[in-house]
Amino acid sequence: MNLHEYQGKALFAEYNLPVSKGKVILHPEDAIDACNEIGGSKWVVKAQVHAGGRGKAGGVELIDSPEMAVEFSKKWLGARLVTYQTDKLGQIVNSILIEECTDIAKELYLSAVIDRDSQSIVFIGSSEGGVNIEEVAKNSPEKIIYQSVEYKDSSLPKYAKNIAKVLKLNEDQTVQFTSMIDNLLRLFIEKDLSLLEINPLVINSAGDLLCLDAKINIDSNALFRQPELFEMYDETQEDPQEAEAAKNDLSYVSLDGNIGCMVNGAGLAMGTMDTIKFFGGNPANFLDVGGTATQERVSKAFKIILKDPDVKVVLVNIFGGIVRCDLIAEGIIAAIKEVDIKIPVVVRLEGNNADIGAKILSKANIKIESINNLSDAAKRSVELAK
Ligand code: GDP
Ligand code: MN
Repeated sequence: MNLHEYQGKALFAEYNLPVSKGKVILHPEDAIDACNEIGGSKWVVKAQVHAGGRGKAGGVELIDSPEMAVEFSKKWLGARLVTYQTDKLGQIVNSILIEECTDIAKELYLSAVIDRDSQSIVFIGSSEGGVNIEEVAKNSPEKIIYQSVEYKDSSLPKYAKNIAKVLKLNEDQTVQFTSMIDNLLRLFIEKDLSLLEINPLVINSAGDLLCLDAKINIDSNALFRQPELFEMYDETQEDPQEAEAAKNDLSYVSLDGNIGCMVNGAGLAMGTMDTIKFFGGNPANFLDVGGTATQERVSKAFKIILKDPDVKVVLVNIFGGIVRCDLIAEGIIAAIKEVDIKIPVVVRLEGNNADIGAKILSKANIKIESINNLSDAAKRSVELAK
C-alpha cells in the first residue's frame, strides 16, 4: 500500500527526520491561510498522487505569492496528473501539499528496500539525486551505492559513513546522516515498509540535510498490524478494476493487451499468460479467481474483465482440483448468461470430470468454444483477438 507524500512526511516527522514546514489543503479557498500559516515569502505547491515524476509533469511548482497557490489548487484539485510513472489516464489529485520553499544547495538520492538475496534491508544512495535519477542509474551506475544493513547492528554508524562518503557529505552532515539512517531503519522495521524513497534528499543553503520528498510503500500483508497506516489507504489512487477485484477477494492486475484471462491459481494464471504470449498474443490482465471457482466468483470476474474496453476475447482456463469441472462448466454458463457477454469466450477445463464439463459446455446454447488443450485454446484466443 502506498502513502501520499504528506503522509510519508508526517511519519518522517514522527521519527525525528527533518522535513519542511507544510500544510495539506483540499480546497483552493484554503490556500491563502495555509501559506500565511507557514509563513515566509516563497512556497512550493505539490499535487498529491501515488506516483513520482510530478516535477516534470507540472505537478510541483515554486511560487512567491499565496494567490499563486490558489491558482495552482484550482488548476489541479479534481484534475488528473499524468506523469511518466502513471498510465495514460493519470492519477486524480485530491489534495495539495503547500510547503515553505527550501533553498537547495544539492539534491541527493536515498532509498531503502528489502533485499531478498542478502536477507536484509539495503539502503541505496547517490550524490546525483533529483528528477533524473533513472538516467543516473542507467548511465553512471558507479555513482550509486548499495549498502545492506541489519537492524540493531552495532556497525550501523559504519554503514552510514559508507553511504555518506558516496553522497560526499562533510563531517557535520555525516553526523546528521548517521542519525537519519538510524531513524529511517527504525521507521522501516516498525511500520513494516517494503520501500522508502527520499528523492531528493537535499542539502539546504545552511548546509543541513532535509527530506524534500517522501515515497513510502507498506507491505500489504502487514497491514493487519498497522491499523493507523491502513487508515491512510486512498482508494482513489488505485486502478478501479483492481480495487473492485480486491474487495471481492480476487487477485486482478490490469495489463495492456486484449485477451482477458480468467484462471484459478496464480501459477496457472502466469502459465496461461506465458502461453498467450508464446503464440503472439497479449493478455489484458492477470486474474486468479482462487481455488473455489464458484458461479458467483466467476461472474464477478467476468464483470471485472469486461469493464476493460480493450478486451476482445476471454480465455477461461480452470483446473478442477478441489471443485469438479462439471460444476465449474455450469457456473461458467450461468455467469455468461447473467453477464450477457458479447465477445467470444474460449474455455479450457482440465482435471476432475473435465470431459463431462466439456460436454456440458458444448451442449449449452451459448457462444463458447470449448478446447481441452491449453496450447490450442491460447492459439484460438490469439486468433479471435485479431
Ligand atoms: P517528484 O517529481 O514527483 O519526485 O516530486 P518532488 O517532490 O521530488 O519534486 C520535484 C522537484 O521539485 C525536486 O527534485 C526539486 O528540484 C523541486 N523542489 C521540490 N521542493 C522544492 C523546494 O522546497 N525548493 C526548491 N528550490 N525546489 C524544490
Ligand atoms: Mn521526488
